Amino acid sequence: MTEAPKLLAGVELGGTKCVCILGTGPDDIRAQERLPTLEPGTTLAAIKVVLDGWRARFGPIAALGVASFGPLDLKPGSPTYGYIKSTTKLGWSHTDVAARLSRRLDVPCAVNTDVNGAALAEGRWGAAKGMSNYAYITVGTGVGVGLIVNGAPVWGCNHTEMGHLRIPRMQGDSWPGACVFHGDCVEGLASGPAIEARVGASADRLGPQHPVWHSVTHALGQLVHALVLTTAPERIMMGGGVMAARPCLFERVRHEAQRSLNHYVEADEVGQGLAKYIVPPGLGVLAGPLGALALAARAAGTGAV
Ligand code: ZN
Repeated sequence: MTEAPKLLAGVELGGTKCVCILGTGPDDIRAQERLPTLEPGTTLAAIKVVLDGWRARFGPIAALGVASFGPLDLKPGSPTYGYIKSTTKLGWSHTDVAARLSRRLDVPCAVNTDVNGAALAEGRWGAAKGMSNYAYITVGTGVGVGLIVNGAPVWGCNHTEMGHLRIPRMQGDSWPGACVFHGDCVEGLASGPAIEARVGASADRLGPQHPVWHSVTHALGQLVHALVLTTAPERIMMGGGVMAARPCLFERVRHEAQRSLNHYVEADEVGQGLAKYIVPPGLGVLAGPLGALALAARAAGTGAV
């Protein structure tokens, strides 16, 4: 008789909402709950109530995964490992999210950025299954890149932040951008709030013919160019609210990236107009929450992702 898979809990902590998830994988999600992200005390207390309720109803939880907005301290051995670092999000600077949530459950806990979590989930269950080098780009309230190299998220002096790369601007476009740190970095040009700041209307209300999409897809194409030439991913998934709502953007980003790369890289993966290279996440909008579950699976030691 094979042992039943261990029950895992995940928390995807986002800038505006958090999603708690319980299960063993995408085919076995036992429960999910969405909560608004308010100040840390309120939000973490509400998450603990959800996790306590699940434990009472479904039984023991083997491990917890926390996929959080950053920046995070993920330096091995750091006394503030798993803390959110200085952030513009009010009240969350220096919050020990992972410890405060896992202490209650008294189970192994893995923490990483929300985009690295989503990338790991895509590698474990989604569009990057079987791959060791790949990237997950989210385009929503920010632009984030989960970067997996040799099967693991990149960590050096910090986690990577490729959403803030400075990129060559589209010819004739001098809009200063909306990133509070860099102005016209990728996030400052292509995130939902950047689009709204630029045109004065929510990105949700803009049709596919709106001229702003030229600069957005140009910026994302340049981000892909940089990724291809630095870590040579085998595939790039693109998710997040802006992309998920507009499948037509994929072809435009592929076109921009291909035009920019100009056939410099010769590899099977980047053939066919990048059609199989730049793809939506295989897990769809569940890539984020399942990212937290993928981290929990790593913490539980149920196999390398
Ligand atoms: Zn920036």
